[in-house]
Amino acid sequence: MAERLVVIGGDAAGMSAASQARRRRGSDDLEIIAFERGRYASYSACGIPYWIGGEAGGPDALTARTAGEHRARGIDLRLGTEVVEIDLGRRRVRTRETGGAEAWTGFDQLVIATGAVPVRPPVPGIDADGVHGVQTLDDGEAVTRTLGRGRVRHAVVVGGGYIGVEMAEALMRHGLAVTAATTRGPPR
Ligand SMILES: Cc1cc2nc3c(=O)[nH]c(=O)nc-3n(C[C@H](O)[C@H](O)[C@H](O)COP(=O)(O)OP(=O)(O)OC[C@H]3O[C@@H](n4cnc5c(N)ncnc54)[C@H](O)[C@@H]3O)c2cc1C
Repeated sequence: MAERLVVIGGDAAGMSAASQARRRRGSDDLEIIAFERGRYASYSACGIPYWIGGEAGGPDALTARTAGEHRARGIDLRLGTEVVEIDLGRRRVRTRETGGAEAWTGFDQLVIATGAVPVRPPVPGIDADGVHGVQTLDDGEAVTRTLGRGRVRHAVVVGGGYIGVEMAEALMRHGLAVTAATTRGPPR
C-alpha cells in the first residue's frame, strides 16, 4: 500500500512541499492529501492590497496554481477543510468541512504549513462588522464586499508596516479618507 503524506495548509509552503514530494515520488508510491480551510490555495497574499486598490486582478489572477491543476498532478487538495485536531498516537488528523462534516484521515508523514497568525490587538470592537484583516484571499473578498456597499467614507489602517502602507494607498484609491495608526515610525 502507498504511503500517505498529509499537508495542513494550502498556500505557499504547504503546496510547495506537496509539489516537491510529488516530483520525488509517484502516485503509486506516495498518496498526497492537502487540507486548506479557505476557499483558495497557492495564492499570492502579496497581491491583496493591489487587488483591493484596483491595480491587480482578483482571486483568479492571484492564484498561481488552481486546485484542479494540483489534482491533475496527483495532489488531492481539499479546500474548505480545516484540520481541527492532530492525533499523533494514532497518526491521524481530524478535519471539519465548511458545512460541518467531520472525518479522520490517517497519515504516515505530516507537514504543518499553517502560516503565521497576525497580531490583532485585544481592543473592544476588534470583531465588529467592518473590521478586516488582509491575510488570505477570503479576507480580501470581505474587504471588497465592504467597499462595494458604497457607504464607506473613512478607513483606519492599524499597523504602519509595508502591508499597512500598501493598504492605506489602496483605500485612498477608492477615494476614502484614510488614517494610518502605528506605534513606530514609518517604514524605511
Ligand atoms: C497582505 C500581504 C502582503 C504580503 N506581501 C509580501 C511581499 O510583498 N513579499 C513577500 O515576500 N511576502 C509578502 N507577504 C508574506 C507572504 O504572503 C507569506 O510569507 C507567505 O504567504 C507565507 O506562506 P505560508 O504558506 O507559510 O503561510 P500562509 O500564506 O499564511 O498559508 C497558510 C495557509 O494555511 C491555512 N490554514 C491555517 N490553519 C489551517 C488548518 N488548521 N487547517 C487547514 N488549513 C489551515 C490558511 O488558510 C492559509 O491558507 C505578504 C503577506 C500578506 C498577508
